[in-house]
Amino acid sequence: MTAQRKPLEKYRRIVIKIGSALLVDRKTGLKKHWLNAMCADIAALRAKGIDVLVVSSGAIALGRSVLDLAPGVLKLEESQAAAAVGQIALARAWSESLSIDEIVAGQILLTLGDTEERRRYLNARATISQLLKMGAVPIINENDTVATTEIRYGDNDRLAARVATMTGADLLVLLSDIDGLYTAPPHLDPDARFLETIAEITPQIEAMAGGAASELSRGGMRTKIDAGKIATGAGCAMIIASGKVDHPLSAIGEGARSSWFAPSGSPVTARKTWIAGQLLPAGSLAIDAGAETALRSGKSLLPAGVRQVTGSFSRGDTIAIIGGEGREIARGLAGYDADEARQIAGKKSAEIAAILGYAGRSAMVHRDDMVMTAPAKREIDAVRSDAHA
Ligand code: GLU
Repeated sequence: MTAQRKPLEKYRRIVIKIGSALLVDRKTGLKKHWLNAMCADIAALRAKGIDVLVVSSGAIALGRSVLDLAPGVLKLEESQAAAAVGQIALARAWSESLSIDEIVAGQILLTLGDTEERRRYLNARATISQLLKMGAVPIINENDTVATTEIRYGDNDRLAARVATMTGADLLVLLSDIDGLYTAPPHLDPDARFLETIAEITPQIEAMAGGAASELSRGGMRTKIDAGKIATGAGCAMIIASGKVDHPLSAIGEGARSSWFAPSGSPVTARKTWIAGQLLPAGSLAIDAGAETALRSGKSLLPAGVRQVTGSFSRGDTIAIIGGEGREIARGLAGYDADEARQIAGKKSAEIAAILGYAGRSAMVHRDDMVMTAPAKREIDAVRSDAHA
């Protein structure tokens, strides 16, 4: 059954991507009034217990305006310099506007490598989740000043989708000057129909993505559909809506036109399918019976429950978890490198800092990074005796 569209307050964790043209006016610079209204919308969602993450464009556009650069296409090094100037102004603006509602902002600048390479991916994810735990709103952008042509996203639509999947968000909202997906570019084709619900991103849907980029932003409909594929494939719904009105999130709630892309599965299933699907685990951890029981009740694997570490793996690699009878019971992403894992195996979490010389993570394999691959023995027994009955 295809998932149904639901009100924003029914989501748990929302990533909101904001396009440059919404935040920055070519002549007058930052649109402070709009930003304050946006932050009020964010505060309203957070008051309902929803985690909010912002992926904000606008560094280059703001830098252009601060540096008073002439209109026209910038060379890569010029846009990097503009981003260096603009990002300061952008982060300050978010921080000031969120503080009106007593919300603290935390700046995160990512490059493509930070989301593609698992070790860095885990690091970035841990920082973002800590920020959320501390009640701050992460304000994320690409680290344009160091991203080179070959290794950059270049558009924040796909970056926002990766952030959404990385953080297990259940909704991604892309706000720009486009209110949603049409069957054809509406400014070229008078018969273009607006699509309110997209159950699946089929090749036909992909073909509808015309080049609807605005002058200030890079991403057109093409990158939005790419973002949709990343997000929905990992179980995260996506909305494309216009941010041109004040309070765009409230407007969506009040029925403003927007396109909704259904998630293809639940976030847990998509992520755990990925972990379970790794072909060659880089190593394994043999655990004791107490840890096996803890894992089966949905807990993380702590160093204390690990009896033996086999193989050579790095933090973030997929490893097998071996239960009492020597068979694999779970797969997960290692929270430590193999040599560190060996040092802390069997030790209490409180001892880790003294052994490693730094305060590591408390889990050897975090439950969010783990999937059970074999049922408990008694479940197997139950199936066997059923078969005999
Ligand atoms: N990272 C760019 C900026 O902040 C924006 C990229 C985009 O518009 O998607 O200026």
